[in-house]
Amino acid sequence: MNNPVVIIGSGLAGYAVARELRKLDSEKPILMLSADHGGFYSKPMLSNALSTGKTPDSIINGDATQMSAQLKISIRPYCRIIAIDQTNKTVISVNEEKIHYDSLVLALGADQIHLPLSGNGTDKIYTINDLDDYKHFRNALEVKKRVSIIGAGLIGCEFANDLATAGYQVNVIDISAQPLGRLLPPEAGEFLQRKLEAVGVVFHLNASTQSVNQIQDYFRLSFADGKTVDCDLVLSSVGLRPRTQLAASAGIAVNRGIVVDRLLRTSSDRIYALGDCAEVDGKVLPFVMPITHAARALAATLSGNPTPVQYPAMPVLVKTPACPIVVSPPDFSIKGNWQVETSDEGVKALYRDETGNLLGFALLGAAVKEKSNLTPQLPPILK
Ligand SMILES: Cc1cc2nc3c(=O)[nH]c(=O)nc-3n(C[C@H](O)[C@H](O)[C@H](O)COP(=O)(O)OP(=O)(O)OC[C@H]3O[C@@H](n4cnc5c(N)ncnc54)[C@H](O)[C@@H]3O)c2cc1C
Repeated sequence: MNNPVVIIGSGLAGYAVARELRKLDSEKPILMLSADHGGFYSKPMLSNALSTGKTPDSIINGDATQMSAQLKISIRPYCRIIAIDQTNKTVISVNEEKIHYDSLVLALGADQIHLPLSGNGTDKIYTINDLDDYKHFRNALEVKKRVSIIGAGLIGCEFANDLATAGYQVNVIDISAQPLGRLLPPEAGEFLQRKLEAVGVVFHLNASTQSVNQIQDYFRLSFADGKTVDCDLVLSSVGLRPRTQLAASAGIAVNRGIVVDRLLRTSSDRIYALGDCAEVDGKVLPFVMPITHAARALAATLSGNPTPVQYPAMPVLVKTPACPIVVSPPDFSIKGNWQVETSDEGVKALYRDETGNLLGFALLGAAVKEKSNLTPQLPPILK
């Protein structure tokens, strides 16, 4: 029997490759190894689960056994890989088992960044980047009312909206002057802030969290300017760092992510990477659409038809129902300007280069309806 295509990771990237590969080849042996439960679920559903009436159990679409039968692949849950032996084409599990591969796909995801905070409450700060994290958070929420979220980025704002709508008292703290500071021009950030404030979110902007201390059964966050916020539970959402360590320790090239070319090939023969762990042609794009495109291309390549990945423009929907948003972040290294139209109903912000070409946009409120007209005008991300 041939050695299988081994996929490490059972997130959206791992499953997308398995699914696409199965479509092209019904026979190829595929083995998925996962450090977690190995079930299939849509991670984006975590940040609006309260408003959509979902529980951690109802978010899962299929457990490892069901997915294995559905896709006709082998799945090994709770199988953490700790080393790659390129010479012998094996991966080594935490139990020191050696597993042979024909090709290896790294779909390892990313780790939450932890701020270097002081205080006796830092080990009780929640982060959410998978279903198990979310389960713990939801259990804790059952007896808590006041939630502080550190980080007003995409995930922080989505959780803020979800929690506030469900009746929690939500404080959001960010070092920048506006929410979604990396994605929106100031006028759009202000509009979003007002809409989230209208559903009860309280913002603390230009605020650098220094410490989290537990005082009896609550927490106190202290900022650099001496101000404080008290709450029952702290969620940190300050960004992700691609998981590169497994690759790096095997001598595979890493930079911000695991470095791959347009064929999703790492620096090592027959080893590929995609999803949140990968840096594709210099780009780290931790979203669903790039995974979909990369998985299709990689499946074709693994089936003997080398296919470079192409990324069209891929606008992202931000799940803040208090303020619908679609954003297609421009490449800010290209000189350009935001042109912003603001009204009571929404904000239309277009980022154009010096010759007037549209490079990106941010559409808020009523302006989201312009997405379908504007998207075809955007340049592809990878041609
Ligand atoms: C709350 C939230 C909401 C989001 N909403 C959106 C959205 O609306 N739209 C959008 O486009 N994107 C959204 N995203 C981002 C999107 O969900 C991710 O880009 C995507 O799910 C990443 O999938 P992945 O498979 O690359 O990584 P992951 O889902 O992190 O999967 C990594 C897998 O690798 C396994 N693994 C890691 N290391 C090892 C090891 N050493 N051995 C074995 N297994 C290992 C893990 O157990 C896991 O199974 C959201 C993210 C979050 C957290």
